[in-house]
Amino acid sequence: MVRSRKDLAVFLSKLTTFPKPNQQLEQYSTDSEAAAKLLWQAYLSNNITDKYVIDLGAGTGILGIGALLLGAAHVEFIEIDATVYTTLKENLAILEANWELEIAGKWTFTNNNVSTCGKTLREDAVVVMNPPFGTQMKHADKTFLTAATKMAPIIYTMHKTSTRNFVQAFTADHKLIITWQEDVLFPLKNTLGHHKKRLERIQVTLFGLEQTE
Ligand code: SAH
Repeated sequence: MVRSRKDLAVFLSKLTTFPKPNQQLEQYSTDSEAAAKLLWQAYLSNNITDKYVIDLGAGTGILGIGALLLGAAHVEFIEIDATVYTTLKENLAILEANWELEIAGKWTFTNNNVSTCGKTLREDAVVVMNPPFGTQMKHADKTFLTAATKMAPIIYTMHKTSTRNFVQAFTADHKLIITWQEDVLFPLKNTLGHHKKRLERIQVTLFGLEQTE
């Protein structure tokens, strides 16, 4: 079993990232430190172990795979781009090999759009996500938040810090409270063509959200 947030971050940094990032879908890999912070916070708040975790816009699976390592009962990966499935499966194999974990039957991959996949609310569900920040697809962050609120009473998410006001307004409108937030510097490797600098750091805020009724 993983013993510390640092152990978790070291393991997550070993996972494979997008082989061919799709710029339109804002496919960039979550920094392993930020992913570990978000997951560890959820774990300490009893929102991972034995939960039904939904990884929205799962990409190559870093968040859901971390959740499996922390004892999630089941992880559902939902992703619009079927081409990432091969890498996600490779990463699940890395998880099994590193921790001698038996994960057969504990995960599912759903190739679908988060806003039309038609899932209904589960009381034991927790969403973890690093949604597109909405820089390519306008309002993609709102699409993801809206979808998440329909699926789970508890959501862990990350957004550009410059959009904090939008997240606050969204939570107020949707009867959610912010239970936790932490600012991090998020290194974006130059994998998407339009990033000019080789390594750009952007301000990102991690949020824990909870439905109040
Ligand atoms: N969760 C991954 C990837 C984050 S990038 C990680 O943390 O590394 C955002 C992901 O959302 C991409 O994989 C992109 O293909 C996916 N995505 C974008 N729009 C989507 C939609 N409408 N429905 C489902 N997935 C979507």
